[in-house]
Amino acid sequence: MKHSALIPVVALLCSVSLTAGLFWLTRGGPPVARPEFDSFRSEAAGAPEARLKTPALPGLARYPREPEIRVALREQPVDSLTLEIDGPFRIRAIGGKTVLSRGQRLASCRVAVEGRGLRVGSTKLEADAVEIEVDQPPGIWVGGHEYRGNLRLFRRESRVLPVNVLPLEQYIAGVVDSEMPAAFPREARRAQAIVARTYALYQLEQAPRGAVHDLYASTRSQKYQGFQYRGEKNRLLAGESQSSREIAESTRGVVGLYEGGLFCTYYCAVCGGRTVEGSDIFKDAAPILNAVTCDGCRDARLYRWEAEISKRDAEAALRPLLGRAGKKLGTLKSLEPAHREKRGATAQYVVRDERQTVQVTGAALRQALGSKGLYSPSFDVQDRGQKLMFSGRGHGHGVGLCQWGARGMAQKGASAEQIFRHYYGGAALGHLAYR
Ligand SMILES: [Zn+2]
Repeated sequence: MKHSALIPVVALLCSVSLTAGLFWLTRGGPPVARPEFDSFRSEAAGAPEARLKTPALPGLARYPREPEIRVALREQPVDSLTLEIDGPFRIRAIGGKTVLSRGQRLASCRVAVEGRGLRVGSTKLEADAVEIEVDQPPGIWVGGHEYRGNLRLFRRESRVLPVNVLPLEQYIAGVVDSEMPAAFPREARRAQAIVARTYALYQLEQAPRGAVHDLYASTRSQKYQGFQYRGEKNRLLAGESQSSREIAESTRGVVGLYEGGLFCTYYCAVCGGRTVEGSDIFKDAAPILNAVTCDGCRDARLYRWEAEISKRDAEAALRPLLGRAGKKLGTLKSLEPAHREKRGATAQYVVRDERQTVQVTGAALRQALGSKGLYSPSFDVQDRGQKLMFSGRGHGHGVGLCQWGARGMAQKGASAEQIFRHYYGGAALGHLAYR
């Protein structure tokens, strides 16, 4: 999976969701009838003239039909989860035809491991991997999110891993709204759809044999909130929209290609003026993930930022990082760049305690101090006695498409294709055979 391809020992986020929940369509009341969403394709169809004119490449003929994508809804198996099903459903063992359980609906209940099988509410299932399907998706709620497609539950020792399986394009409609605000220009969102689709399919192709999922629903892969979900105070929020479905449809099957194959389309929220060389951060970065200038992200709040972190907090955050490298950090005395000129993911910083000095990279520092306000690996640091003052640029790892940069380019009239080519120079666009 993606995290194994990282150069630093630590996992960086592939992408950072831009949305603060402000842009969601909000609706009150319980989830009831939603006939307007029953037919994904016909409802989302429209603007066919806006489809990108792209060649069908032979290598992509292996997708004669729209593929399904498998999205892990938790990054790790969990002790239990809450499940609710609106409407008639069936539960089968994966790979089997026998229906283990069925019902007209399932009131909110707990799912957990029992013995060598699983318990769903009051029903014990003698299987360690089951699939739940509903007559009319969406309708399966997991932990307050409603999903299209089916739900798979896997027993992992004493824990459960939930995986949503759904057609790729429906997933893309969810990712577009989860990753990019509806207020962003249409062409930026279309570029986002192409990038998200390429990323997802690349992960699908890279998934090891026997893997039960291709992606995570979090920014560890790309953010995906499902069809709708309950937010604060139980308010119902949309996970996708008419707009995001149209965006997915108008770019249906379009992917980015490097040397005729898919590549990992890393992307970030705000690059801060210049993107980062992909190979500085990711082992599997395609050579086309070059650093490019980006004028479009100036309006982003985190284009430039400052963070004040006490040495005591920094010390606590750095201790596990150094511990993994076999170093025991005492009292943090100073943290400064090893070279005055160099900044960024691969720049070295010197951490000093009362006994030793240790060098760490900008990327590792960002990972360790991310929750304290270090938004990117591109920063300056000043020693202010008890405190460290960081001033930095951008939000995220900085590789590939800059989401706020795409917004800026689209505002100036750039098309999705032009945006894509700017951040992945040398890549081509093609379409999958199922389009
Ligand atoms: Zn940018």
